[in-house]
Amino acid sequence: MSFQNPVFIPGPTNMPEAIRQACQMPTIDHRSPLFGDILHPCLEGVRKVLKSESAKVFIFPSTGTGGWETALSNTLDAGDKVLAARNGMFSHRWIDMCQRHSLDVQIVETPWGHGLPTEEYARILAADTNHEIAAVLATHNETATGVKSDIAAVRKALDDADHPALLFVDGVSSIASMDFRFDEWGVDVAVTGSQKGFMLPAGLAIVCFSEKAIAASKTATLPRTFFDIKDMQSGYDANAFPYTPPVGLMNGLKQSLEMLLDEGLENVFARHHRIAEGVRLAVAAWGLELCAATPDVYSDTVSTIRTPDGFNATDIVTHAADVYGVAFGVGLGEVAGKVFRIGHLGSLTDVMALSGLATAEMCMADLGMDIKLGSGVAAAQEFYRSNPALILTEAA
Ligand SMILES: *Cc1c(COP(=O)(O)O)cnc(C)c1O
Repeated sequence: MSFQNPVFIPGPTNMPEAIRQACQMPTIDHRSPLFGDILHPCLEGVRKVLKSESAKVFIFPSTGTGGWETALSNTLDAGDKVLAARNGMFSHRWIDMCQRHSLDVQIVETPWGHGLPTEEYARILAADTNHEIAAVLATHNETATGVKSDIAAVRKALDDADHPALLFVDGVSSIASMDFRFDEWGVDVAVTGSQKGFMLPAGLAIVCFSEKAIAASKTATLPRTFFDIKDMQSGYDANAFPYTPPVGLMNGLKQSLEMLLDEGLENVFARHHRIAEGVRLAVAAWGLELCAATPDVYSDTVSTIRTPDGFNATDIVTHAADVYGVAFGVGLGEVAGKVFRIGHLGSLTDVMALSGLATAEMCMADLGMDIKLGSGVAAAQEFYRSNPALILTEAA
Protein backbone atom coordinates (compact mmCIF):
# COMPACT_ATOMS: atom_id res chain seq x y z
CA MET A 1 0.00 0.00 0.00
CA SER A 2 1.44 3.36 -0.99
CA PHE A 3 1.33 6.03 1.66
CA GLN A 4 1.32 8.71 -1.04
CA ASN A 5 -2.14 7.93 -2.36
CA PRO A 6 -5.19 9.22 -0.58
CA VAL A 7 -7.56 6.64 0.89
CA PHE A 8 -11.15 6.32 -0.36
CA ILE A 9 -12.54 4.35 2.54
CA PRO A 10 -15.37 6.00 4.46
CA GLY A 11 -13.19 6.32 7.53
CA PRO A 12 -10.59 6.59 8.79
CA THR A 13 -10.19 9.49 6.40
CA ASN A 14 -7.14 11.32 5.07
CA MET A 15 -5.31 13.44 7.62
CA PRO A 16 -4.20 16.97 6.81
CA GLU A 17 -0.59 17.61 7.76
CA ALA A 18 -1.54 20.30 10.30
CA ILE A 19 -3.69 17.78 12.16
CA ARG A 20 -0.97 15.12 12.17
CA GLN A 21 1.44 17.63 13.61
CA ALA A 22 -1.05 18.72 16.26
CA CYS A 23 -1.49 15.08 17.36
CA GLN A 24 2.22 14.76 17.82
CA MET A 25 3.12 16.78 20.90
CA PRO A 26 5.19 16.48 24.04
CA THR A 27 3.76 15.07 27.25
CA ILE A 28 1.92 17.56 29.42
CA ASP A 29 0.35 17.24 32.84
CA HIS A 30 -3.15 16.12 31.98
CA ARG A 31 -4.48 17.46 35.27
CA SER A 32 -3.44 21.03 34.73
CA PRO A 33 -4.78 24.20 33.13
CA LEU A 34 -2.60 23.35 30.12
CA PHE A 35 -4.93 20.45 29.40
CA GLY A 36 -7.91 22.72 29.96
CA ASP A 37 -6.60 24.87 27.08
CA ILE A 38 -7.05 21.85 24.82
CA LEU A 39 -10.21 20.38 26.38
CA HIS A 40 -12.46 23.41 26.54
CA PRO A 41 -11.95 24.61 22.93
CA CYS A 42 -12.73 21.03 21.84
CA LEU A 43 -16.02 20.97 23.75
CA GLU A 44 -16.94 24.42 22.47
CA GLY A 45 -15.94 23.67 18.87
CA VAL A 46 -17.90 20.41 18.69
CA ARG A 47 -20.99 22.24 19.98
CA LYS A 48 -20.62 24.73 17.13
CA VAL A 49 -20.24 21.97 14.53
CA LEU A 50 -23.52 20.52 15.84
CA LYS A 51 -25.22 23.92 15.57
CA SER A 52 -26.17 23.75 19.23
CA GLU A 53 -26.33 26.47 21.85
CA SER A 54 -26.56 24.21 24.84
CA ALA A 55 -25.58 20.59 24.11
CA LYS A 56 -23.25 19.05 26.71
CA VAL A 57 -20.33 17.56 24.82
CA PHE A 58 -18.42 14.55 26.18
CA ILE A 59 -15.26 13.13 24.66
CA PHE A 60 -14.18 9.61 25.60
CA PRO A 61 -11.07 7.65 24.63
CA SER A 62 -12.99 5.23 22.40
CA THR A 63 -14.61 5.07 18.97
CA GLY A 64 -18.10 5.62 17.59
CA THR A 65 -19.15 2.28 19.03
CA GLY A 66 -18.26 3.50 22.51
CA GLY A 67 -20.35 6.57 21.74
CA TRP A 68 -23.39 4.33 21.13
CA GLU A 69 -22.76 2.68 24.49
CA THR A 70 -22.46 6.06 26.20
CA ALA A 71 -25.87 7.08 24.83
CA LEU A 72 -27.63 3.89 25.95
CA SER A 73 -25.98 3.22 29.30
CA ASN A 74 -26.35 6.76 30.64
CA THR A 75 -30.03 7.24 29.88
CA LEU A 76 -31.88 3.91 29.96
CA ASP A 77 -32.90 1.06 32.30
CA ALA A 78 -32.72 -2.66 31.51
CA GLY A 79 -35.95 -3.71 29.80
CA ASP A 80 -36.66 -0.26 28.39
CA LYS A 81 -38.28 -0.25 24.98
CA VAL A 82 -36.31 1.24 22.09
CA LEU A 83 -37.56 1.87 18.55
CA ALA A 84 -35.03 1.33 15.75
CA ALA A 85 -34.94 0.63 12.03
CA ARG A 86 -32.43 -1.78 10.48
CA ASN A 87 -31.40 -0.50 7.06
CA GLY A 88 -27.69 -1.27 7.01
CA MET A 89 -24.73 -2.65 8.94
CA PHE A 90 -24.35 0.26 11.35
CA SER A 91 -27.99 0.44 12.41
CA HIS A 92 -27.80 -3.36 12.77
CA ARG A 93 -24.82 -3.15 15.10
CA TRP A 94 -26.43 -0.48 17.29
CA ILE A 95 -29.55 -2.65 17.59
CA ASP A 96 -27.34 -5.61 18.56
CA MET A 97 -25.73 -3.46 21.25
CA CYS A 98 -29.17 -2.52 22.62
CA GLN A 99 -30.10 -6.18 22.86
CA ARG A 100 -26.86 -7.03 24.65
CA HIS A 101 -27.73 -4.25 27.11
CA SER A 102 -31.06 -5.98 27.89
CA LEU A 103 -33.11 -3.37 26.07
CA ASP A 104 -36.32 -4.40 24.32
CA VAL A 105 -35.86 -3.28 20.72
CA GLN A 106 -38.81 -2.87 18.40
CA ILE A 107 -37.08 -3.32 15.05
CA VAL A 108 -38.51 -1.95 11.82
CA GLU A 109 -36.88 -4.01 9.07
CA THR A 110 -36.12 -1.63 6.22
CA PRO A 111 -34.65 -2.52 2.83
CA TRP A 112 -30.93 -1.74 2.58
CA GLY A 113 -30.64 1.30 0.33
CA HIS A 114 -33.66 3.01 1.86
CA GLY A 115 -33.68 5.76 4.49
CA LEU A 116 -35.28 5.56 7.91
CA PRO A 117 -38.98 4.67 7.62
CA THR A 118 -40.24 7.88 9.20
CA GLU A 119 -43.88 7.22 8.35
CA GLU A 120 -43.68 3.86 10.10
CA TYR A 121 -41.96 5.54 13.05
CA ALA A 122 -44.83 8.07 13.14
CA ARG A 123 -47.44 5.29 13.11
CA ILE A 124 -45.70 3.32 15.88
CA LEU A 125 -45.16 6.37 18.06
CA ALA A 126 -48.77 7.53 17.66
CA ALA A 127 -49.97 4.03 18.64
CA ASP A 128 -47.73 3.98 21.73
CA THR A 129 -50.21 5.95 23.84
CA ASN A 130 -48.75 4.61 27.12
CA HIS A 131 -45.37 6.01 26.12
CA GLU A 132 -43.57 2.73 26.65
CA ILE A 133 -40.92 3.59 24.06
CA ALA A 134 -38.10 5.28 25.95
CA ALA A 135 -35.81 6.06 23.03
CA VAL A 136 -35.81 6.22 19.24
CA LEU A 137 -32.60 5.39 17.38
CA ALA A 138 -31.76 7.05 14.08
CA THR A 139 -28.69 6.48 11.95
CA HIS A 140 -28.26 9.76 10.11
CA ASN A 141 -25.95 8.37 7.45
CA GLU A 142 -25.78 4.60 6.84
CA THR A 143 -22.16 4.17 5.87
CA ALA A 144 -22.75 0.64 4.58
CA THR A 145 -25.29 1.68 1.95
CA GLY A 146 -24.46 5.36 1.38
CA VAL A 147 -27.89 6.44 2.56
CA LYS A 148 -28.77 9.54 4.53
CA SER A 149 -31.96 9.86 6.52
CA ASP A 150 -34.24 12.72 7.43
CA ILE A 151 -33.72 13.39 11.13
CA ALA A 152 -36.11 16.37 11.09
CA ALA A 153 -38.84 13.95 9.99
CA VAL A 154 -38.08 11.64 12.92
CA ARG A 155 -38.38 14.62 15.27
CA LYS A 156 -41.67 15.55 13.61
CA ALA A 157 -42.98 12.00 14.11
CA LEU A 158 -42.19 12.31 17.83
CA ASP A 159 -43.74 15.77 18.11
CA ASP A 160 -46.86 14.89 16.13
CA ALA A 161 -47.46 11.99 18.51
CA ASP A 162 -46.62 14.22 21.48
CA HIS A 163 -44.23 11.43 22.44
CA PRO A 164 -41.58 12.01 25.14
CA ALA A 165 -39.07 9.37 23.93
CA LEU A 166 -35.46 10.44 23.67
CA LEU A 167 -34.03 10.80 20.15
CA PHE A 168 -30.56 9.26 19.70
CA VAL A 169 -28.77 9.98 16.44
CA ASP A 170 -25.71 8.18 15.07
CA GLY A 171 -23.89 10.91 13.17
CA VAL A 172 -20.56 9.09 12.96
CA SER A 173 -20.25 9.46 9.18
CA SER A 174 -22.20 12.70 8.82
CA ILE A 175 -21.18 15.11 11.57
CA ALA A 176 -18.57 17.63 10.38
CA SER A 177 -19.21 16.67 6.73
CA MET A 178 -22.98 17.03 6.28
CA ASP A 179 -25.42 19.49 7.84
CA PHE A 180 -26.37 18.44 11.36
CA ARG A 181 -28.76 20.50 13.48
CA PHE A 182 -28.75 19.26 17.07
CA ASP A 183 -31.05 21.98 18.46
CA GLU A 184 -33.38 22.41 15.50
CA TRP A 185 -33.95 18.64 15.18
CA GLY A 186 -34.42 18.22 18.92
CA VAL A 187 -31.71 15.58 19.14
CA ASP A 188 -31.17 14.21 22.66
CA VAL A 189 -27.94 12.32 22.13
CA ALA A 190 -25.71 12.67 19.07
CA VAL A 191 -22.82 10.26 18.58
CA THR A 192 -19.73 10.60 16.44
CA GLY A 193 -16.08 9.59 16.35
CA SER A 194 -12.77 11.22 15.49
CA GLN A 195 -11.79 9.32 12.33
CA LYS A 196 -14.38 10.46 9.79
CA GLY A 197 -15.44 14.08 9.32
CA PHE A 198 -12.91 15.24 11.91
CA MET A 199 -10.01 13.84 9.86
CA LEU A 200 -8.24 12.33 12.88
CA PRO A 201 -7.10 8.81 13.70
CA ALA A 202 -9.66 6.61 15.44
CA GLY A 203 -9.59 6.98 19.20
CA LEU A 204 -12.23 9.48 20.32
CA ALA A 205 -15.93 8.94 20.89
CA ILE A 206 -17.67 12.31 20.76
CA VAL A 207 -21.11 12.30 22.37
CA CYS A 208 -23.46 15.22 22.87
CA PHE A 209 -26.35 15.30 25.32
CA SER A 210 -29.42 17.55 25.48
CA GLU A 211 -30.70 18.82 28.83
CA LYS A 212 -33.44 16.20 28.62
CA ALA A 213 -30.88 13.41 28.15
CA ILE A 214 -28.80 14.76 31.05
CA ALA A 215 -31.94 14.71 33.20
CA ALA A 216 -32.58 11.08 32.16
CA SER A 217 -29.02 10.19 33.18
CA LYS A 218 -29.78 11.14 36.80
CA THR A 219 -32.17 8.21 37.22
CA ALA A 220 -31.01 5.72 34.54
CA THR A 221 -29.89 2.42 36.03
CA LEU A 222 -28.00 0.58 33.27
CA PRO A 223 -24.48 -0.10 34.57
CA ARG A 224 -21.74 2.22 33.36
CA THR A 225 -18.30 3.06 34.63
CA PHE A 226 -15.84 4.05 31.91
CA PHE A 227 -18.58 5.85 29.96
CA ASP A 228 -20.30 7.56 32.91
CA ILE A 229 -21.00 11.15 31.87
CA LYS A 230 -21.33 12.25 35.50
CA ASP A 231 -17.76 11.18 36.26
CA MET A 232 -16.63 12.76 33.01
CA GLN A 233 -18.33 16.05 33.88
CA SER A 234 -16.66 16.11 37.31
CA GLY A 235 -13.36 15.60 35.52
CA TYR A 236 -14.02 18.48 33.11
CA ASP A 237 -14.84 20.79 36.00
CA ALA A 238 -11.23 20.30 37.12
CA ASN A 239 -9.64 20.50 33.61
CA ALA A 240 -9.23 16.73 33.59
CA PHE A 241 -10.74 13.33 32.79
CA PRO A 242 -11.68 10.76 35.44
CA TYR A 243 -8.75 8.82 33.94
CA THR A 244 -5.93 9.61 31.52
CA PRO A 245 -7.08 11.51 28.42
CA PRO A 246 -5.58 10.96 24.94
CA VAL A 247 -4.04 14.42 24.94
CA GLY A 248 -2.42 14.31 21.49
CA LEU A 249 -5.64 13.21 19.80
CA MET A 250 -7.54 15.95 21.55
CA ASN A 251 -4.97 18.51 20.48
CA GLY A 252 -5.57 17.19 16.96
CA LEU A 253 -9.31 17.64 17.45
CA LYS A 254 -8.75 21.22 18.53
CA GLN A 255 -6.81 21.80 15.30
CA SER A 256 -9.48 20.02 13.24
CA LEU A 257 -12.23 22.18 14.70
CA GLU A 258 -10.26 25.33 13.96
CA MET A 259 -9.84 24.22 10.35
CA LEU A 260 -13.51 23.29 9.91
CA LEU A 261 -14.77 26.52 11.48
CA ASP A 262 -12.24 28.61 9.52
CA GLU A 263 -13.41 27.03 6.26
CA GLY A 264 -16.96 27.68 7.43
CA LEU A 265 -19.43 24.88 8.10
CA GLU A 266 -21.61 25.71 5.12
CA ASN A 267 -18.51 25.68 2.89
CA VAL A 268 -17.48 22.31 4.32
CA PHE A 269 -20.93 20.88 3.56
CA ALA A 270 -20.94 22.43 0.07
CA ARG A 271 -17.49 20.96 -0.64
CA HIS A 272 -18.68 17.49 0.33
CA HIS A 273 -21.82 17.84 -1.76
CA ARG A 274 -19.93 19.03 -4.81
CA ILE A 275 -17.35 16.24 -4.63
CA ALA A 276 -20.12 13.67 -4.08
CA GLU A 277 -22.08 14.93 -7.09
CA GLY A 278 -19.03 14.38 -9.30
CA VAL A 279 -18.63 10.84 -7.97
CA ARG A 280 -22.31 10.10 -8.59
CA LEU A 281 -22.07 11.37 -12.17
CA ALA A 282 -19.07 9.11 -12.70
CA VAL A 283 -21.03 6.11 -11.41
CA ALA A 284 -23.86 6.90 -13.81
CA ALA A 285 -21.38 7.27 -16.71
CA TRP A 286 -20.05 3.79 -15.90
CA GLY A 287 -23.59 2.49 -16.29
CA LEU A 288 -23.65 1.38 -12.64
CA GLU A 289 -26.17 2.03 -9.91
CA LEU A 290 -25.92 3.22 -6.37
CA CYS A 291 -27.22 1.10 -3.52
CA ALA A 292 -29.10 4.23 -2.35
CA ALA A 293 -32.58 3.82 -3.81
CA THR A 294 -33.52 7.43 -4.56
CA PRO A 295 -31.72 10.77 -4.94
CA ASP A 296 -33.23 12.20 -1.75
CA VAL A 297 -31.21 9.67 0.29
CA TYR A 298 -27.88 10.00 -1.53
CA SER A 299 -25.08 10.43 0.98
CA ASP A 300 -22.55 13.21 0.51
CA THR A 301 -19.87 11.26 2.40
CA VAL A 302 -19.89 7.79 0.83
CA SER A 303 -21.15 6.23 -2.39
CA THR A 304 -22.02 2.54 -2.32
CA ILE A 305 -21.88 1.20 -5.87
CA ARG A 306 -23.57 -1.97 -7.09
CA THR A 307 -21.67 -4.15 -9.53
CA PRO A 308 -23.34 -6.44 -12.10
CA ASP A 309 -24.83 -9.75 -10.92
CA GLY A 310 -22.27 -12.51 -10.75
CA PHE A 311 -19.36 -10.12 -10.29
CA ASN A 312 -17.63 -10.09 -6.90
CA ALA A 313 -17.37 -6.39 -6.00
CA THR A 314 -14.81 -7.14 -3.31
CA ASP A 315 -12.34 -8.07 -6.09
CA ILE A 316 -12.25 -4.37 -7.05
CA VAL A 317 -11.17 -3.43 -3.54
CA THR A 318 -8.53 -6.18 -3.33
CA HIS A 319 -7.20 -5.37 -6.81
CA ALA A 320 -7.01 -1.62 -6.08
CA ALA A 321 -4.95 -2.29 -2.97
CA ASP A 322 -2.68 -4.90 -4.57
CA VAL A 323 -2.04 -3.25 -7.92
CA TYR A 324 -2.49 0.49 -7.40
CA GLY A 325 -1.99 0.96 -3.67
CA VAL A 326 -5.39 2.58 -3.25
CA ALA A 327 -8.03 1.79 -0.62
CA PHE A 328 -11.75 1.58 -1.36
CA GLY A 329 -14.39 0.21 1.00
CA VAL A 330 -15.80 -3.31 0.76
CA GLY A 331 -19.48 -4.18 0.96
CA LEU A 332 -20.68 -5.06 4.46
CA GLY A 333 -23.27 -7.54 5.70
CA GLU A 334 -26.16 -8.15 3.36
CA VAL A 335 -24.47 -6.36 0.45
CA ALA A 336 -20.99 -7.93 0.87
CA GLY A 337 -19.62 -8.86 -2.56
CA LYS A 338 -22.41 -6.97 -4.31
CA VAL A 339 -21.10 -3.43 -3.80
CA PHE A 340 -17.92 -1.47 -3.26
CA ARG A 341 -17.72 1.90 -1.60
CA ILE A 342 -15.98 5.14 -2.42
CA GLY A 343 -15.60 7.25 0.70
CA HIS A 344 -15.53 10.97 -0.09
CA LEU A 345 -15.42 12.71 3.25
CA GLY A 346 -12.98 14.59 5.35
CA SER A 347 -9.87 16.15 3.88
CA LEU A 348 -10.61 15.81 0.17
CA THR A 349 -10.61 17.94 -2.97
CA ASP A 350 -12.12 17.44 -6.41
CA VAL A 351 -8.62 16.69 -7.73
CA MET A 352 -8.13 13.93 -5.18
CA ALA A 353 -11.57 12.52 -5.97
CA LEU A 354 -10.68 12.34 -9.67
CA SER A 355 -7.65 10.19 -8.85
CA GLY A 356 -9.92 7.76 -7.00
CA LEU A 357 -12.37 7.61 -9.90
CA ALA A 358 -9.51 7.01 -12.35
CA THR A 359 -8.21 4.17 -10.15
CA ALA A 360 -11.65 2.58 -9.85
CA GLU A 361 -11.92 2.66 -13.65
CA MET A 362 -8.55 0.94 -14.08
CA CYS A 363 -9.55 -1.77 -11.60
CA MET A 364 -12.93 -2.42 -13.18
CA ALA A 365 -11.38 -2.58 -16.67
CA ASP A 366 -8.57 -4.87 -15.43
CA LEU A 367 -11.18 -7.21 -13.97
CA GLY A 368 -13.08 -7.43 -17.24
CA MET A 369 -16.01 -5.16 -16.51
CA ASP A 370 -17.41 -3.26 -19.45
CA ILE A 371 -16.02 0.14 -18.43
CA LYS A 372 -14.63 2.72 -20.84
CA LEU A 373 -11.50 4.25 -19.34
CA GLY A 374 -12.03 7.92 -18.65
CA SER A 375 -15.81 7.82 -18.90
CA GLY A 376 -16.54 8.42 -15.22
CA VAL A 377 -13.59 10.74 -14.80
CA ALA A 378 -14.81 12.85 -17.75
CA ALA A 379 -18.30 13.11 -16.29
CA ALA A 380 -16.90 14.27 -12.96
CA GLN A 381 -14.46 16.66 -14.66
CA GLU A 382 -17.28 18.30 -16.62
CA PHE A 383 -19.23 18.77 -13.42
CA TYR A 384 -16.28 20.15 -11.45
CA ARG A 385 -15.35 22.51 -14.31
CA SER A 386 -18.83 23.94 -14.58
CA ASN A 387 -19.29 24.18 -10.80
CA PRO A 388 -16.05 25.73 -9.57
CA ALA A 389 -14.88 25.05 -6.03
CA LEU A 390 -14.45 27.69 -3.43
CA ILE A 391 -10.66 27.89 -3.23
CA LEU A 392 -9.40 28.86 0.20
CA THR A 393 -6.30 30.96 0.00
CA GLU A 394 -4.92 29.92 3.38
CA ALA A 395 -3.07 26.62 3.37
CA ALA A 396 -5.51 24.01 4.56
C1 LIG B 1 -17.87 4.19 11.42
C2 LIG B 1 -19.26 4.17 11.94
C3 LIG B 1 -19.59 3.68 13.21
C4 LIG B 1 -18.63 2.94 14.08
O1 LIG B 1 -17.64 3.69 14.54
P1 LIG B 1 -16.30 3.06 15.12
O2 LIG B 1 -15.54 4.31 15.31
O3 LIG B 1 -15.73 2.14 14.11
O4 LIG B 1 -16.64 2.38 16.39
C5 LIG B 1 -20.90 3.79 13.64
N1 LIG B 1 -21.85 4.32 12.87
C6 LIG B 1 -21.59 4.77 11.64
C7 LIG B 1 -22.69 5.34 10.83
C8 LIG B 1 -20.29 4.71 11.13
O5 LIG B 1 -20.03 5.16 9.90
